[in-house]
Amino acid sequence: MYKSLLLSLLLFCVFLSAPSSASGIHDYNFKVSRGDAFYKFFFSAGLSGQLLKKMMASDERAQRLNNIYPGDKFKITLNDNHELDQVLYSPVNDNPLLISYDGKSFSYRKERIQPIGELSHTIITIKKSLNYDAKKAGIGADVVKMMVDNFSWEIDFSKDLRKGDKFMLSWNGEKTPIAMVYVGNKKTIALFLYKNNLNQSKYYTFKGVTLNDTFTFAPTKYNRISSSFTKRRFHPTLKIYRSHRGTDFAAPSGTPVFAPAKGIIKYKATLSGYGNVVYLKHGSDYVTVYAHLSKFAKGLKSGKKIKKSELIGYVGSTGQSTGPHLHYEIRINGVHQDAEKIILPKQSFVPTNAMPEFQKRARRILKVLNEG
Ligand SMILES: [Zn+2]
Repeated sequence: MYKSLLLSLLLFCVFLSAPSSASGIHDYNFKVSRGDAFYKFFFSAGLSGQLLKKMMASDERAQRLNNIYPGDKFKITLNDNHELDQVLYSPVNDNPLLISYDGKSFSYRKERIQPIGELSHTIITIKKSLNYDAKKAGIGADVVKMMVDNFSWEIDFSKDLRKGDKFMLSWNGEKTPIAMVYVGNKKTIALFLYKNNLNQSKYYTFKGVTLNDTFTFAPTKYNRISSSFTKRRFHPTLKIYRSHRGTDFAAPSGTPVFAPAKGIIKYKATLSGYGNVVYLKHGSDYVTVYAHLSKFAKGLKSGKKIKKSELIGYVGSTGQSTGPHLHYEIRINGVHQDAEKIILPKQSFVPTNAMPEFQKRARRILKVLNEG
């Protein structure tokens, strides 16, 4: 692990040192580091500001060069007269862009391959906890949070991790890993970074889907919403004003209640106010609550993984309740949200036309991880 970190550091430093001409005397190779701008590379290759201006004005695709990121690479090739022949721009997370110049005009071509530069990887072996062991492996808190945000949709970090489980992170010179792989004794989950057309990066499984789920609006078939989310309302049983931090779905007793998205049962109890209640955790940030249930679904217990639309219980009137209804809550990081108004994130997909390339890239990353 140290070896690979050192190696990546070494490679990074090699690329930092000004124009190299490794592949021929007319090739100038550059790797972008923080604060770099394309014109610096252009000038380093001995080309003029006038030509740069002409190139930037030649096509809107040239504007992409104003948005370069650490880890991106450039190869500027000159002809025998030391005039510009072509610029090959290879961003870390996008297809390479080839700009050719014939002495008069520029032509543009987007290469289909997503290149993978020199990959390095970090392996976190669980001995105590993800937080502890990741820190020991030199992984920053922001990356750990990203891991937890993604994997929590499938892994219960408080219960599922075992000594010896591994998290493998694959890097391509950027701050965020291009792949994150969990290898447990029961299952393996591999996630790959993909940047969509809107420049949003997310982690996707090999099948091209994010691990997070899309929530359905109501967890039960209901007749009407008998009470909306409000900060202050008159409580008919308690005869006092108090807030209602959930949504009440009126439905006959015994109507099935289904999980609106996949999750893990966090808590199941019978309480004086809520009656029979279930807390379902979705990912690291979301918790949904189902109160006044007449009964729980069979086999429901804390820690159980629940699929979207799986039965969790039946509408009832247990606890402090005036009649059969489902009291439903959505909490994000502990803060109650209005289920009728909140817009929840949806599951994302890699576009179908990008899938062959995405999977090819994913296979290559896994191969490197395997060999590493
Ligand atoms: Zn309620």
